[in-house]
Amino acid sequence: MKIVVIGTGYVGLVQGVCLAELGNEVACVDLDEAKITKLKNGESPIYEPGIEELIKKNLKQERIFFDTSLKKHLKNAEIVFIAVGTPSDGKGKADLKYVTAAAEDIGKNLNHYAIIVNKSTVPIGTGEMVKNTIKKYYKEDFDVVSNPEFLKEGAALDDFFHPDRVVIGVNGSKKAAERIAELYKVLNCPIVVTNLETAEMIKYASNSYLATQISFINSIANICEKVGADVTDVSRGMKLDKRIGERAFLNAGIGYGGSCFPKDVSAMVEIAKESKENFRILEEVEATNKEQRQKFIKKIVDNLGKIQGKRIAVWGIAFKAKTDDIREAPAITIIESLQNLGAEVLAYDPVAEENARRVMPDVIYVSRPQDACKKADALVIVTDWDEFKQVDLKAIASLMKNKYIFDGRNIYDSDEVKKTGFKYYGIGR
Ligand code: NAD
Repeated sequence: MKIVVIGTGYVGLVQGVCLAELGNEVACVDLDEAKITKLKNGESPIYEPGIEELIKKNLKQERIFFDTSLKKHLKNAEIVFIAVGTPSDGKGKADLKYVTAAAEDIGKNLNHYAIIVNKSTVPIGTGEMVKNTIKKYYKEDFDVVSNPEFLKEGAALDDFFHPDRVVIGVNGSKKAAERIAELYKVLNCPIVVTNLETAEMIKYASNSYLATQISFINSIANICEKVGADVTDVSRGMKLDKRIGERAFLNAGIGYGGSCFPKDVSAMVEIAKESKENFRILEEVEATNKEQRQKFIKKIVDNLGKIQGKRIAVWGIAFKAKTDDIREAPAITIIESLQNLGAEVLAYDPVAEENARRVMPDVIYVSRPQDACKKADALVIVTDWDEFKQVDLKAIASLMKNKYIFDGRNIYDSDEVKKTGFKYYGIGR
């Protein structure tokens, strides 16, 4: 099929490259010239394991094209994906300005039947808005489909090729839904076909539920600390219940961050309000999540004493492992709070340093984890990168002035760490 993808961010780029890998001819369009120049040279503007190899391979096979102009590629397209950002508008709602602009661009340049597929996470009713926006400029036949994205950064290629499910929402046109289903048939997964509104809701409901699990287990963790229970064992015991499940989001830590959960949870709360419904559980999920970062900072302060003049090593800046994405990353809140209290922060992240430098220029960035620890008063684990899990903690301890570990992700066995001479503080243990 001939496909256009608008937006080459974490979602659009993966979608475009993977559809090309399946044999489709794909044009990826972005307004960001710097991104397009990199991509034309076979370089990925984001860190996502495996993506650069696929970009290079499909460029060579002439199945993928990168451009800043939609017009040129729209004329042959059967399917046009909208994969632009939907950040928070600052008041909790999703800002739809990029989706609206993309829809206008399509409307102004379309000259034949095409299926417009919305991949961005958008409030319920946006599919109809996109339809009406295009209609203002293009009066002939076209269809709008919702096909929300469920990928996890860091595992995005695997999620594309082995999805748990594909959701397709459409109002009216059965043929459009069938055509999109055909595109994904080869992935051999359940395909859920619904109306537009239901598909849009499935995405918000899924992210809201996953975020709820995180705040739930963090609340359990906070009680564990008071009553002498260990949340990592509680979580293991819970996940073995098949109704809860092995892959449940029940790892206690410093709360969720990233480009999706924070904005999608607050957008869901706002959608509920607009529907004159209270989503009290979700309001608490948000509040608990904010508190969780503050509790971690308090734990550091309570145990280290005066922070002024202390040298603190931070391992991990990305909002989770295997990505360079630092949007809403807990590391930002934690580092900035420690700096405001007078600490000197040395930070290490294997891939997020470039993004972090733009947001936090006053941090001392180092290129090896151990370099952050020299003469440090404490080591703070913020992201659960694999490379932190089996370091020689005895060697790390020997570099440090004071031997404290604050493990925000519970990556270490507390008893083992204590044997290395560290004072260990995890979450909920
Ligand atoms: P992103 O910010 O990484 O990328 C968006 C891209 O769209 C940018 O490169 C931007 O330049 C481009 N763009 C904006 N307006 C444009 C226009 N009119 N024409 C061409 N390009 C345009 O965003 P993302 O993380 O890829 O997220 C995209 C959407 O997918 C959001 O709605 C998000 O909520 C959703 N989503 C994201 C993830 C994730 O893990 N990142 C997962 C599932 C769903």
